[in-house]
Amino acid sequence: MNVFVQSPKAKASLAYGCRYRAHPSSPLKRLTFTTLLLLLPQSQNRCYSYRSLSPSLFLSRATITLHRSLSPHFPNPNFLTGNSCFFPMEQFWSGRGINKNKAMVENLQTYGVVRSKKVAEVMEKVDRALFVPDGNAPYYDSPMPIGYNATISAPHMHATCLQLLEENLQPGMHALDVGSGTGYLTACFALMVGPQGCVVGVEHIPELVSSSIQNIQKSAAAPLLKEGSLAVHVGDGRQGWPEHAPYDAIHVGAAAPEIPQALIDQLKPGGRMVIPVGSIFQDLKVVEKSLDGSVSVRTETSVRYVPLTSRDAQLRNA
Ligand code: SAH
Repeated sequence: MNVFVQSPKAKASLAYGCRYRAHPSSPLKRLTFTTLLLLLPQSQNRCYSYRSLSPSLFLSRATITLHRSLSPHFPNPNFLTGNSCFFPMEQFWSGRGINKNKAMVENLQTYGVVRSKKVAEVMEKVDRALFVPDGNAPYYDSPMPIGYNATISAPHMHATCLQLLEENLQPGMHALDVGSGTGYLTACFALMVGPQGCVVGVEHIPELVSSSIQNIQKSAAAPLLKEGSLAVHVGDGRQGWPEHAPYDAIHVGAAAPEIPQALIDQLKPGGRMVIPVGSIFQDLKVVEKSLDGSVSVRTETSVRYVPLTSRDAQLRNA
């Protein structure tokens, strides 16, 4: 990707598109602090059922409570953004040693992030280097700035979302990628659903839409873009993309304050949505619509994503 405007704040946003360490699949996983549910805000208690609370989730909740009492002194909630000794970001490997897409996928398999053959195949076919701006190490397990106060998510996050959505990305299915950014996941989705399927990327920065189309044109998903089963549009992803709804799979690549109703409405019965929700502390939610239309929400892990917001707010970095 060649179009790249370096924002003065890009460094601060480097940690976006990543998950926090001690996620639910870590050895510390599934410690259940049922009584600590009391720490959850009332509204969240009503909306979601927390089956288990990982240490990182607990820490997040406790710190949100602390933050609320300190907020007059720290009006900008981003004061806790990113990697710190209290909130280390997940990174399965560091350094620049990995210099091949295949080696990156093998690492993701070694660490148990990529578990299925299908996800491994697709990630091998779509070379991440085509989507990461020049000058960055494309196979490094970290988010990278792509300009416009946005980032391409870390490889472990892309793999996590592909694994979570795999059953809903079968050949012929419909998928929506909200906040499609570089187009990396959009291209992966398109290869999974194939020429009989339909994949729509929605991104509100027109320059990113143009560059993502150029990236996809160089990738293994190029024929699908040409044939029309894959398209990327400029739009406000909070409204979804009704034209090709309902969707079997919806991925949201930016953190919403709450799950947009339009996206729930556009989810097919039997469909699944993966969406980061929250502001300072965010959880990756898995939303499922059952065949009778009822909706359930569960928390997968703690994450840090760019906000799902208006274009103006994003460009102002508000
Ligand atoms: N999955 C992408 C993530 C990009 S970061 C990738 O890995 O490349 C999140 C993206 O969401 C950014 O490109 C940002 O511009 C976009 N975004 C944020 N709010 C949006 C909105 N309301 N509508 C559409 N896109 C949005």
